[in-house]
Amino acid sequence: MPLVVTGTIGVDTIHTPTAQVEGVAGGSAAYFAAAASFLGPVRIVAAVGGDWPNEHRRSLEGFAGLCTKGLEIRPGSRTFAWGGRYFENLNRRETLFTELGVLQEEPPQVPKEYRDSRFVFLANTHPGVQLRLLRSFERRELVVADTMDLWINIARDDLRTLLKEVDGVILNDSESALLTEIPNAISAAQAILEMGPRFVVVKKGEHGAVLVHREGVATVPAFPSPLERVIDPTGAGDTFAGGLMGHVARVGRGDLATLQAGLAWGTVLASFTIESFGLDGLRRIHRADIDARIEEFRSVARIG
Ligand code: AMP
Repeated sequence: MPLVVTGTIGVDTIHTPTAQVEGVAGGSAAYFAAAASFLGPVRIVAAVGGDWPNEHRRSLEGFAGLCTKGLEIRPGSRTFAWGGRYFENLNRRETLFTELGVLQEEPPQVPKEYRDSRFVFLANTHPGVQLRLLRSFERRELVVADTMDLWINIARDDLRTLLKEVDGVILNDSESALLTEIPNAISAAQAILEMGPRFVVVKKGEHGAVLVHREGVATVPAFPSPLERVIDPTGAGDTFAGGLMGHVARVGRGDLATLQAGLAWGTVLASFTIESFGLDGLRRIHRADIDARIEEFRSVARIG
């Protein structure tokens, strides 16, 4: 079933306790699409500026199954840029800067061929833009959105409108607390269900994730990566969403059991992203590596 993602493609600057890197390929839609492409075809809708490095383009185009027809390159504009710094245990990070660039302009056009997309993921960007893009997919069956602190702080009204129109939302525990003012993840998710969606996935970093659905609750532990293999957690959340939605689109349904199985695919794909900077962790693997890690996860985590 056709899966489409809208969101950002950006150039990241990342400070971890042991390294500082600039010019890394990133963006919410880039990580999502790269991850989902291992499970089935995925279409990407995003805009970048004329300064977007060729090398980043080649890297994205290298993922078989990822269609870049909806990628708009605007010569006179600047690519979205983001910088983040991780604290000692890599669990917490702060944003150093956000340069919106092309995100301040008109949203990208959805190509005609993409309008039949049934499964839609609205990766992180301004919720007003997410809302406009969502309405372009006339045959949508399942729409899931992500959001983050910046948008909760500066575009809360648009976000509340968006939540009324989506089936699901994925966010991390600090964001669910910020949105609802409820620190407990499950209670916060239940409060978000009241705002419209049928399900909420709250990501809890090293503690895994919890799916709170109108019909039940499911959890998944994090993949037990040894700390020495964790290089850069950037993009883990978007990769997780790509694995989850990639699985849902492949099965062709978004019921509770399928979503629950999708949690494992998301977790395993994210475990590759955090082993390198940017998209490198996903670039160097094949489907067989993912299948092997799924098997390992099933036995180690005893998730059935
Ligand atoms: P994650 O670590 O999964 O939360 O996502 C990190 C990616 O999100 C980075 O590659 C950034 O370029 C991108 N990003 C950071 N801030 C924003 C924002 N406000 N809106 C959209 N994408 C963002």
